[in-house]
Amino acid sequence: MGKRRHCRRFLQKGDFMELYIHIPFCARKCAYCDFLSFADREDRQQEYGRALIRDISSRGGILFREEKPRTETVFIGGGTPSLMPQGFYERLFDCVRENFSLSPDAEITIECNPGTVNREKLAEYRRCGINRISFGVQSMNDCELSLLGRIHTRDEAVQSFRAAREAGFENINIDLMMNLPGRQWNDFERTLSETIALAPEHISAYSLIIEPGTPFFAKYDGNPELLPTEDETCQTYENAVRMLADAGYRQYEISNFARDGRECRHNKGYWTREEYLGIGLGAASLIGERRLSVTRDFEDYLRGLRYDSDATLTENDILEETVMLSLRTSDGLDLHCLEERFGIECRSRIEEKIADYTRLGLMEKQGDRAFFTVRGFLVSNPVIAGLIM
Ligand code: SF4
Repeated sequence: MGKRRHCRRFLQKGDFMELYIHIPFCARKCAYCDFLSFADREDRQQEYGRALIRDISSRGGILFREEKPRTETVFIGGGTPSLMPQGFYERLFDCVRENFSLSPDAEITIECNPGTVNREKLAEYRRCGINRISFGVQSMNDCELSLLGRIHTRDEAVQSFRAAREAGFENINIDLMMNLPGRQWNDFERTLSETIALAPEHISAYSLIIEPGTPFFAKYDGNPELLPTEDETCQTYENAVRMLADAGYRQYEISNFARDGRECRHNKGYWTREEYLGIGLGAASLIGERRLSVTRDFEDYLRGLRYDSDATLTENDILEETVMLSLRTSDGLDLHCLEERFGIECRSRIEEKIADYTRLGLMEKQGDRAFFTVRGFLVSNPVIAGLIM
């Protein structure tokens, strides 16, 4: 493989783009959630669906290319996309196919919450070409689910998973949440072991973050004694990584684990800075080196207003993103490509700092590749900040 080809993603864009579609509705708001989502009536969902389809028809208003953009992955996220009424996704995908050239082997994911799918909806998703489901399960313990404010029980999660299998889905992710208030490794171990027993192709395990403005923030921000300690958090993470590896799930990003060949192609594209177009309320895009965000104001969006931020990234922004996103993955940062793109001085500066973190056991280096150890992933944010300072 030639050097330039090897570093293609660092050097040029434009082969294909990813498509993200945002559905901002949820049955009710979970106690920890600060995502752009809200409960709303079905007529508002219909209105939003129409606005979304208009938006896709104009390719977000920013792709003024004659030919249809080639699209390898579509991700419908939320919110709870599985709340949308029956029939909506058939209309949506007719429109997507009219305006984008979807590869025959495109990965098409929909996020679903247990308790909001049924046989008819799952059959519709399959007819649309959706071939991957991501279930927001979070826990297999009913007390924990109720603490989180989730709308479903453990049994509903298992039933939804089985219904998806019966409908023919062969690529399923389960999202889990670690380090809940008052919980320790043993509690998460039970959830993880029940999840592994279902044999999904992919598992995402995130640590709970107490976000400002949420009911959890009001409850726990001033009461750290109610949350797991730093040591317990680290222990849970390290144990989870080990248990998942033993069960055949390879860690390929801080919080993501997959069977061979089942890594989420869409998310990998984000981490390698492929171009993506985000459609829908609050969605972000990376087009060339432009970062754009759609308005977060629902009424504005319905009225056809779109982007409320549009910035061309500076060289420094691109360097920061490259280092930060590469190091989230277990492939890590390719120093040879970094040098090709940003110059030898930049490489030397970052490499010196990597050597310091390697001595501390937080990073490792193999040839031109630098990456985090499991312990390093736990403190990745300050380490990355240190690298790009
Ligand atoms: S289902 Fe997901 S997006 Fe909706 S409120 Fe809960 S955590 Fe937030």
